[in-house]
Amino acid sequence: QENGHEKIDYVFKVVVIGDSAVGKTQILSRFTKNEFCFDSKSTIGVEFQTRTVTLNGKCGRLDRYRAVTSAYYRGALGAMLVYDITKRQSFDHVARWVEELRAHADSSIVIMLIGNKADLVDLRAVPTEDAVEFAEDQGLFFSETSALNGDNVDTAFFRVLEEIYGVVS
Ligand code: GDP
Repeated sequence: QENGHEKIDYVFKVVVIGDSAVGKTQILSRFTKNEFCFDSKSTIGVEFQTRTVTLNGKCGRLDRYRAVTSAYYRGALGAMLVYDITKRQSFDHVARWVEELRAHADSSIVIMLIGNKADLVDLRAVPTEDAVEFAEDQGLFFSETSALNGDNVDTAFFRVLEEIYGVVS
């Protein structure tokens, strides 16, 4: 957005949450650096990565945090709630993560449910329809992604950003 000659930057905070080992770190890495790291260890602690994006022809910076405590939900406008399509348990826990968001995050937070590891087709344990149904029930956006090959990762983030942008502007 132009304000005189100055460009206005928007900073959107989006948290990436979900069970351990579902691929949060790799999704962040894919989105911010277009990289996938084959021998990464699951990280404990806060991750902070940034990618500058252009939305509707407008520049904005997206700051993404990895939530480990409720303090990190503060100010978050979006949440990527990740499960692993090959681990039923990680999907069964999604309801708890939604509760956590409803308890700690802003009520207008945009939530994207993400079924990650979609490349592992033969190991699928969560049918797409189950997730679609849950997402519709809870009013969440939904996408299946692969941090490994990059499928839908950008699309999912941009969908959330567009929605946030619609909310804040
Ligand atoms: P986190 O604990 O949620 O941050 O999970 P990580 O990002 O550390 O990923 C956990 C494991 O899953 C790692 O061995 C990753 O290489 C692997 N992984 C993450 N995303 C994908 C994916 O999209 N496809 C496949 N096949 N493996 C993935």
